[in-house]
Amino acid sequence: MLILMETQATPDQVREVLALLEAAGLRCQVNQAPESLSIVAPNASKVLKADRIEPMAGVRRVVPITSPYKLASADAVAGRTIVDVRGVRIGGPDLALVGGPCGVESREQIFTVARYVAEAGVKLLRAGAYKPRTSPYSFQGLGSEGLCLLEEVRAEFDLGIVTEATEVETFDAVEHSADMVQIGARNMQNFALLRRAGRCEKPVLLKRGPSATLEEWLYAAEYVLGEGNRNVVLCERGIRTWSDHARNTLDISVVPAAKALTHLPVMVDPSHATGRRDLVIPCGLAGVAAGADGLLVETHCHPEKALSDGPQALLPSDFIRLVEQAGAVHRALQAPSLTGLWM
Ligand code: PEP
Ligand code: MN
Repeated sequence: MLILMETQATPDQVREVLALLEAAGLRCQVNQAPESLSIVAPNASKVLKADRIEPMAGVRRVVPITSPYKLASADAVAGRTIVDVRGVRIGGPDLALVGGPCGVESREQIFTVARYVAEAGVKLLRAGAYKPRTSPYSFQGLGSEGLCLLEEVRAEFDLGIVTEATEVETFDAVEHSADMVQIGARNMQNFALLRRAGRCEKPVLLKRGPSATLEEWLYAAEYVLGEGNRNVVLCERGIRTWSDHARNTLDISVVPAAKALTHLPVMVDPSHATGRRDLVIPCGLAGVAAGADGLLVETHCHPEKALSDGPQALLPSDFIRLVEQAGAVHRALQAPSLTGLWM
């Protein structure tokens, strides 16, 4: 149930509505936007009738949320959510770019990549310190040493850090070092990790599972939102299909489909979606053209020496080209004749 309050509703009036909902055993969230004030109470219509709430002082209207994703649903808030990651606003009019290697490998590697990422005008650096690897014999990341290097990189280049949390046990350390915590595709249905991410102070980048439907992905977001973290960004990173020319299949149509169902920003990761350097730029541009709010892209100073995901890492010059071309596609979409075509 979405309870739309009068914009001039007093704090006492809001408290009274919350008290009624809480007495009925409901967990709810208040959304305060410049021109709207509302309360989302998932599943409230199962225990309370709208006509019990509608006459209360300060209440304008009660609207049922018919979507099964009560908090992620586009009906749950007025307008779209913008997630601020160290000054980069994801989900607003600007295209958000995140670039960096798959993993932190050494001081020299991460400083070299961070330097050209920052020089390209990109403000967010991605790199895993804890790596979820298919084989237990593959490079697993530098762990806490990697997090320390990322903190140094942030200070040196003024970059926001996007890095993955793979388990509840090490989540505190990742949360401390990150500006945005990534939940990887393999963990999209790790419900304990999702709940922990929901109690995280930092924004969360939620990758789509390799075999997840849009519905399952939004339920995963619901776990995070349900614990109180409103700063969730969805990231499409390719799904497993029988098409075998690439590592995964970039599900382009899920971008506008997700944006129609949810108020959350949607990004595209063309690197894991393809696994092939030659496909990363075209698929990244396709993601932007489909209305993605941003791109998450892997790049490495020496891809041939990378300890993980080298074949999909863009060379520095290609990374700069992608930044320029993605910006051009995004600007083209904002041209007056095209505005409104997607949303
Ligand atoms: C990554 O971002 O390096 C990664 C492991 O991604 P995914 O979870 O999408 O496979
Ligand atoms: Mn990777």
